[in-house]
Amino acid sequence: MKSNVILHRCVLRWYLNMRTEKLLINNQEYIVEIYTEERNNATVSIRKNKIIIRVPININREEQFRHILQMKQWAMKKIMSNPERFKRREEKQYKSGDILQINDEQFSLEIDYSNNVSSSGRIINNKIILNISSRLSEEIKKEHIVTLLSRIIAKRRLPILEKKIHELNQQHFQKNINRIFFKNMNSRWGSCSENANINISTRLLFAPEIVLEYVCIHELAHLIEQNHSTNFWNIVQQAIPCYKEQEQWLKKMEIHVDFNYLFVL
Ligand SMILES: [Zn+2]
Repeated sequence: MKSNVILHRCVLRWYLNMRTEKLLINNQEYIVEIYTEERNNATVSIRKNKIIIRVPININREEQFRHILQMKQWAMKKIMSNPERFKRREEKQYKSGDILQINDEQFSLEIDYSNNVSSSGRIINNKIILNISSRLSEEIKKEHIVTLLSRIIAKRRLPILEKKIHELNQQHFQKNINRIFFKNMNSRWGSCSENANINISTRLLFAPEIVLEYVCIHELAHLIEQNHSTNFWNIVQQAIPCYKEQEQWLKKMEIHVDFNYLFVL
């Protein structure tokens, strides 16, 4: 079948067009993933413990090399300018008996391994029980633990979030809200859809109350102003005068607030 052939080729090309290098910055090793792909310009981003560079495929090798060098220099400068922010952190190895503190609640963790194909999790009172498939690689097992944990805790905390958002809405905005979700979002703290759904990142489960409150107000304010105009920020400021402090907290803690690390305030 023709479509299958095309798909296969795509996967293969994707694989061939990514290579990794290592870069030592401040005595710390960073993995650099370099993608050569269909695009107009070169970009670089700094993730947890790696740097991702993307360069256009339709330019010659010398030009690609020049872009890669530039992007690496940019990343190095950025990391050196704020070493604390980009400090490599040990990822949390969750195990049975761990206690997780989320806001005013404590959860104890039990992890069982079984021969099942899939992993699952449940919560009984304040005990979280995960059943992880032992057929998976260590890396994927860890991913399953982190994803299940964030989902279970988010489900448990959702009524509290809903109550908070409705209260803030009553107090400051009085707009119609459709549905409220905790979502496993990494690139955004929150979002507000056209049909008035409000999404909050599960990473904010680890944030102080006032920071979560600010993100809720920010998204509620988008029910009035969809952009980030001066008027939008005026509306935010009226509802939460100290919002700049919360913005700073989010910027500073951005790469640390994550279920991959046991986050302690
Ligand atoms: Zn916004």
